[in-house]
Amino acid sequence: MSKVRVRFAPSPTGGLHLGGVRTVLFNYLFAKKHGGDFIVRIEDTDQTRFVAGAEEYIFNCLQWCGLIPDESCQHGGSYGPYRQSERKAIYKQYADQLIKDGRAYYAFDTPEEIEAMRERLKTAGSHSLQYDHHIRQNMKNSLNLLPEETQRLLDTGTPYVIRIKVEPDEHIHLTDMIRGEISFDTNTVDDKVLLKADGMPTYHLAVVVDDHLMKITHAFRGEEWLPSAPIHVLLWKYLFGLDKMPQWAHLPLILKPDGNGKLSKRDGDRLGFPVYAMDWQDPITRDTTKGFKELGFLPEAFNNLLAVLGWNDGTEQEVFSMEELIDKFSMERVHKGGAKFDFEKAKWFNHEWIKKLPADNYAAIVADIFEAKGIEMDGLYLLKVIDLIKDRCTLLSDFYEQGIFFFKAPSTLDEAAVKPKWDEKKQLFFAELIKALELNTSWQHDDLENGFKELAAANQLKTGELMLPFRIMLVGGKFGPSVFNIATLIGKKETISRIKTGLNVFQN
Ligand code: GLU
Repeated sequence: MSKVRVRFAPSPTGGLHLGGVRTVLFNYLFAKKHGGDFIVRIEDTDQTRFVAGAEEYIFNCLQWCGLIPDESCQHGGSYGPYRQSERKAIYKQYADQLIKDGRAYYAFDTPEEIEAMRERLKTAGSHSLQYDHHIRQNMKNSLNLLPEETQRLLDTGTPYVIRIKVEPDEHIHLTDMIRGEISFDTNTVDDKVLLKADGMPTYHLAVVVDDHLMKITHAFRGEEWLPSAPIHVLLWKYLFGLDKMPQWAHLPLILKPDGNGKLSKRDGDRLGFPVYAMDWQDPITRDTTKGFKELGFLPEAFNNLLAVLGWNDGTEQEVFSMEELIDKFSMERVHKGGAKFDFEKAKWFNHEWIKKLPADNYAAIVADIFEAKGIEMDGLYLLKVIDLIKDRCTLLSDFYEQGIFFFKAPSTLDEAAVKPKWDEKKQLFFAELIKALELNTSWQHDDLENGFKELAAANQLKTGELMLPFRIMLVGGKFGPSVFNIATLIGKKETISRIKTGLNVFQN
């Protein structure tokens, strides 16, 4: 069997939707599982949809996810160029070949003539407005014109497109790795443009030619491309032979959490969660669309949550590392039906991965979050803080709220939680605690805890009643890990200073 070669073929038209990343992921997993190559090809033949910066952004997203291509315009490879706009000269010969074989034709209709044709069809009540075998006989193309006339138009530089000639009353078969056998009736397929007036191929011609030249063995893409599949199968049949065609899989859509239909950027805005991998700023409007990365997701979690949107390994397992995914992934276990996106579940995955990964995997990101708010820190100290609070964090940005008191004394204390039960005895206890702590030379967790409990007992107070005021002195509010862990970490001087502040606040 030939080496597995798969491709992700994005058009650089804007931000990368999470459905796009899932397509990348499934391609990547399949390639790695089978010892194959993962190729990224930039499909930028539609110059009207080109968006500056989108290509670089796509590669940045892949970099963040750790889904690194083996071949691409950024990574090199022996089947380049990997940007279709740089391959323009290649496609024309295949279009010419199709014309020579009677599988395609020149069409000279102007946009106005095509519009007029559609109007006529509408008026006549036709349910289809497509340029197909019915109407092509009334249009200005090389199937109807005399050969000399066609030649004259070509010689005089009349703008033309090349269209595929779809034969009526045929069935096109496709075996999809997820959907099984699919059949299309050619009467529903129009004579798609293959080569545009500017000499650029359309996506349909370019995708087939490039999949062939780049020796792609498996083509995985979103379900939205299924309607284009019959044209691609026909082009494979006419140009290279169906035995050379890659195996196809059309991946299910990622659906809105509420209701049906594909999850769109607008749904994200409406429901308050990102749908792009990373923040994307539109180069013209300067509007920014939020991404998972900047919101505080870990790439491990992002990959994991995408993998299980439409796939499972047949067990109850939900948390998968990349190694496990590569090991367990199979296209046959991808569901046909769309998968509803659930942002709460997405956050759950992030929480699981924050807990699961060693702190130093993401400490640098957490450090940046603190530094952006003016808090400088020591790396080793931060690792200890992360280990103490990671169980409480769902997003990386939560580390700030959950951990700021390790770096700075709280600016306000939750007095309402303490004052109603504050009395002389407690006041005395904390004053004595300060003295005891000042004498403490070990500053070890167990020592602190035991000392605290003994002092409470000596004062005939319950430890339970003292813990809350102590916590609020150290943290400011009713949250955070064990108070003795906090005291151990922030150190003797800081602990004593915060108790003193607390005493002042509570006794007034
Ligand atoms: N260029 C298409 C896109 O923008 C790729 C479809 C395919 O993979 O065949 O998604």
